[in-house]
Amino acid sequence: ETTKEHLSFQAEAKQLLKLMIHSLYSNKEIFLREMISNASDAADKLRFEGLTDAALYEADSDLKIQVSYDLEARTITITDNGIGMSRQEVIDHIGTIAKSGTREFFNSLTGDQVKDAHLIGQFGVGFYSAFIVADKVTLNTRRAGLTAEHGVRWESSGEGDYTLETINKETRGTEVILHLREGEDDLLNGMRLRNIIRKYSDHITLPILMKKEEWSDEEKKNKITDEDETTNQANALWARPKNEITDEQYQEFYKHVAHDFEPPLTYVHARVEGRQEYTQLLYIPSRAPFDLFDREHRHGIKLYVQRVFIMDDAEKLMPNYLRFVRGVIDSNNLPLNVSREILQESKDIESIRAGSIKKVLGLIEDLAKGKTDNEKDKFKTFYKEFGQVLKEGVGEDFINRERIAKLLRFVTTVSEVDEPSVSLEDYIGRMKEGQEKIYFVTADSLKAAKSSPHLEVFRKKGIEVLLLADRVDEWLVSHLTEFEGKQLQSVAKGGLDLGNLEDEAEKEAQKKEADEYQDLVERMKKTLEDKVKDIRVTLRLTESPACLVADTHDMGGNLERLLKQAGQ
Ligand code: ADP
Ligand code: MG
Repeated sequence: ETTKEHLSFQAEAKQLLKLMIHSLYSNKEIFLREMISNASDAADKLRFEGLTDAALYEADSDLKIQVSYDLEARTITITDNGIGMSRQEVIDHIGTIAKSGTREFFNSLTGDQVKDAHLIGQFGVGFYSAFIVADKVTLNTRRAGLTAEHGVRWESSGEGDYTLETINKETRGTEVILHLREGEDDLLNGMRLRNIIRKYSDHITLPILMKKEEWSDEEKKNKITDEDETTNQANALWARPKNEITDEQYQEFYKHVAHDFEPPLTYVHARVEGRQEYTQLLYIPSRAPFDLFDREHRHGIKLYVQRVFIMDDAEKLMPNYLRFVRGVIDSNNLPLNVSREILQESKDIESIRAGSIKKVLGLIEDLAKGKTDNEKDKFKTFYKEFGQVLKEGVGEDFINRERIAKLLRFVTTVSEVDEPSVSLEDYIGRMKEGQEKIYFVTADSLKAAKSSPHLEVFRKKGIEVLLLADRVDEWLVSHLTEFEGKQLQSVAKGGLDLGNLEDEAEKEAQKKEADEYQDLVERMKKTLEDKVKDIRVTLRLTESPACLVADTHDMGGNLERLLKQAGQ
C-alpha cells in the first residue's frame, strides 16, 4: 500500500525556476545534456561503490544510458542503470533546488537576459533544466542494493511543490520522464535527439542508446524498431589523439566534469610517458565556483585507471592552492582497486601530482605571457578569479615557490588603476639605483594602504612600494621573504634602513635632529612608558607628525588586526 506525500520546495525555488526557464530558453537543448550528465555520474558512483561491494551490480554490470521518446504520450525518457537514489537521497538531492547562497544569487541578478543566463549557469541548474521543456517531470528510481519495493517516484510540475511515492521498481537506477510543454513537439524526433546527443554528450564514456528507426514504405514514415543503437562515440575523449578532438568537444567535456555551464578559460591535454604513464586533461574554469573558499568544496579531478572511472574529487591529485582546476587524470600504472587510503601513500600519485602541478603552472604562465589581446584578457580574468588562491601556493608549495611568485601581480604606488598588474620581475626591473629590497605595505584596504604615512619617504624618493590589501597577503609575505635574491621588506617595520638610498647628508641630518630632540623623546618615553617599546626621530615622514611602527621581529599591525578579527 503506497501513499502519496506532498512536499514543497524552498521559498525561492519557484522564482528561480521561472527565471531559469526564461533565461535559458534560447539554449533549451541543454536539458538533455544535463540529464545524460547525471546518468553518467550515477554510473560513476556505482562503479566507485562497486569496487568494495560487487553485489551492487545485481548481475547487471553493463552500464548504459537509454534515451527514448513517445509521440503519443509526448514524453522523452532518459533511463540509466547507475547508482539510483533512496527516498532520502531524492529529498536531499532533487527536492532541494535552492542550494545555499540563493538569496545572494538573486541579489546579483541584473535583469539582463544574457548576463543572467551566465549567472544562472554558474549557479548550476542541472536537473531542473528539465523544466525548460517539460511542464511535468516524473522520476522513478531505486538505489543499488535496495530491494524492488524500495523504489521511489518523484513528480513535479516545477511550480513549488512535488510528490513522493513508494513504488515497486525491478531495475536498479533512475528513469526521468519529461512530459513536454505545449509547442515542444519538435523534440519528439529521433534525428533531432541524436543530433543533440552528438553535439553535447558525445564525450560520455558510457554508450547512450536509442532505438533504431527504419523507413516504412507502407506507412510512409520512420518506424521505431526494437533494436538498440549507440548514438555517441562512447570512448574516453582524453584517450583520443588531440588532432581528432574539436574545441567544442573539449568544451562540452569540461561542462560535464566541472558541472559548469560556461566554457573553460583554458585547458591542457597531454600524455606523459616514462616510468609513470598517464594522460591528463586539465581545465581552468573561467569563473570561481561559489564554494572556492569553503572547506567542503567539491568536484576536483576525476581519477581513472586505464579508462575505468575510479573516483571523483581525488583531492590528492591537486594541491589546495590549485583546487579550482577541473578535469581528468587517467593512469596506466595504478592498480584498478586503488582506494583513497592507497592514494594517500602512493609514490605514483606523488609523481603524477608533481607532473600535474607543472602542467597547470605552465598553462597559467602561457596566459601570463599573453601574446595576443585575448590571452592578456584571459590572464586578467584568471587573476581576478583565482589570484588570491594562487597566493596560498607560495606558502604551500615550497618546490614551486619561485614559479608561483613570478605569476603574482600587484597594485603598487605607481599603478594608475587598482588592478593588480605589476609582477615582481617588473618591480625589480624598475628598482632605483642602490635599492636592494622590495618594499611593501599591508593594510585592510587599498585605500588604507595608499594613505599609509609610512609611504611618505618612499614617495619623496620615488621608490615603488607594493600595496598589499588582500586577506591572504599577510600570509603571503610571511612565506615570501625574498624573490630573486631581493628581500621583501615591510615599510612599516623596524628602523627602516634605506641602505644605499640614503645619502650621507641625510644620515647627518637624521643624527643632528635626533640629538636636538633628545629631551623631547625622553619625556615622551616616560609618559608612554607601558604603551610603546621605543620612540625614535625619523626622516620617514614628510607630512605626518608621527606614525606607529612595528618592531622588526614583531607582527605587523595589519596581521595583528586580522588575528584579532579571527578571535585569536
Ligand atoms: P549536479 O549534477 O551538479 O550535482 P544536478 O542538479 O544535475 O546537480 O543533480 C543534483 C543531484 O541529483 C545529483 O548530484 C545526484 O545526487 C542526483 N541525481 C540527479 N540525477 C540522478 C540520476 N540519474 N541518478 C542518480 N542520482 C541523480
Ligand atoms: Mg548534473
